[in-house]
This record gives sequence, C-alpha cells and structure tokens, in this order.
Amino acid sequence: MIKLEHVNKTFGNHQALTDLNVTFNAHETTAIVGPSGSGKSTLLRSLNLLERPESGLYHFNDQVIDFSHPLASKDVLSIRRKTGMVFQDYNLFPHLSVVKNVMEGPVQVLKQQPDAARQTAMDLLDKVGLADKADAYPGQLSGGQQQRVAIARSLAMDPEFILLDEPTSALDPELEAGVLRVLLALAQENDSMIVVTHNMEFARAVADKIIFVEDGRILFDGTPSDFFTKPNQRIADFLAAMT
Ligand code: ATP
Ligand code: MG
Repeated sequence: MIKLEHVNKTFGNHQALTDLNVTFNAHETTAIVGPSGSGKSTLLRSLNLLERPESGLYHFNDQVIDFSHPLASKDVLSIRRKTGMVFQDYNLFPHLSVVKNVMEGPVQVLKQQPDAARQTAMDLLDKVGLADKADAYPGQLSGGQQQRVAIARSLAMDPEFILLDEPTSALDPELEAGVLRVLLALAQENDSMIVVTHNMEFARAVADKIIFVEDGRILFDGTPSDFFTKPNQRIADFLAAMT
C-alpha cells in the first residue's frame, strides 16, 4: 500500500499538487487520468521520490516519510527498490543487448548471479513476447518492442509497485496494442500497478480504480464503473473531449 497524506508540491510559484490525499492498494491497477498539465506525472514521480514534495506524509506499508524533513538516502533507496518506474521513452542502455538490459539491475544492484539473472530475464522476455530478441540491441527494435523490454527490465527488479507514465504515448496504435496486452496480462496476475494514461478504453479495461486529477487536486477516486457510467459534469466534459 502506498498512501499520500496532505501532500503539496510546487514548482516556483506554480502549485503542481495541492493537499493531495490518496491510497494505492497492492495487487490492484490504478489508472491516473486527467488533462495535460494537471499534475499526473508529478504525482507518479513523487511516488518514486523522483520529485520531492515540500510537505505531507508518504507511507509505503509501515515505512513513513515526512516530506517536510530532508529525505534520508536510505529511505530514497528503499522506496526506489519497491517502486519500478517505466518511462515513456524506455531509457534502455543502447550498448547492451536486450537480455543484458534486463539482467543489468539484478546483477549490479541486487547482486544476483549472472546465470540466475539471465534465466529470470529470459522468462520475463518470454512473458512480454520478446524471447527471440534477447540478443538484439535496442536500436534494432521497434518502439513497442523497446517499451516491452523496459517493462521486463522493471519486472526483473521485482518491485512491489510498477509505475508507468504514459507507457504507450510515443507509439503508433498498432505498436501500442502489444504493450497494452502485456500490461493487461500483468493486471490480470494482480501485479500492483499505477499507470498514467490518456487511453480511456485501456483505463476502463485494466483499472481496478481510477484517479482523476485536475489542477493538482483529485476530483475523482473510485471505480471505473462509477467513473464511466456516472461521471459528474466536469468528468463528462473531459471524457467527451477525449473521444
Ligand atoms: P501531461 O498530461 O501533459 O503529461 P501532467 O498531468 O503529467 O501533464 P505534470 O507534468 O505533472 O502534468 O505537470 C503539472 C504542472 O507542473 C504543469 O503546469 C507543469 O508545467 C508543471 N511542472 C512540471 N514539472 C515541472 C518542472 N520540472 N519545473 C517547472 N514546472 C513543472
Ligand atoms: Mg505527464
């Protein structure tokens, strides 16, 4: 469980997150949606401590961080281990083969034996449909394939939560479908996922819970069924503009 209480984050004089209170449950998929510039990425990045809010509390199970105090580096390390971030633009290591990209963290950071790490990496590549690309280099893959490697690489670190910021926004629709299938399969295995997305069809299909963010505040926190079938006027306008 990740829980934020009264979290505030400003950039200069712009308040990006205002008194945010939200809980993300384990073994659920939460979709974060909302207009551009509303604070979705800032929220997601705060969960991984890539952004440092100025105030509020961050709970990860029993671990509590008070953002109004300087962050302890042991807290940052432990939260980063527990939250695997998948970026929009993949960030693969171009000079390493696909399987080496997936093994790198487990070998370097988790100190796994290379043989065991390779086996796990191959299993994960199989899971994302790319076992046959293990020895290719990122530059030889399509964007959708690279994003699936990035997902496998994140899973290899065995995080408690996987965080994804618009994982398909850089992709053409036909490449997007392959990535969405992988995420749907993870959701069906009850992995704990938090995904920022503009794809409402995907949010409806994958999410156990939807969070709608606007102007750094949460305007809706509930089930997809309530979000899509009983939207208030603001959400109805948002959904109409998305289609
Ligand atoms: P999008 O859907 O376009 O990705 P978003 O909902 O992810 O938008 P954020 O990236 O969280 O929005 O940004 C929220 C607000 O904070 C925006 O007004 C943005 O301009 C501002 N902001 C975000 N990051 C920074 C930064 N590093 N410096 C200054 N302002 C920032
Ligand atoms: Mg964003």
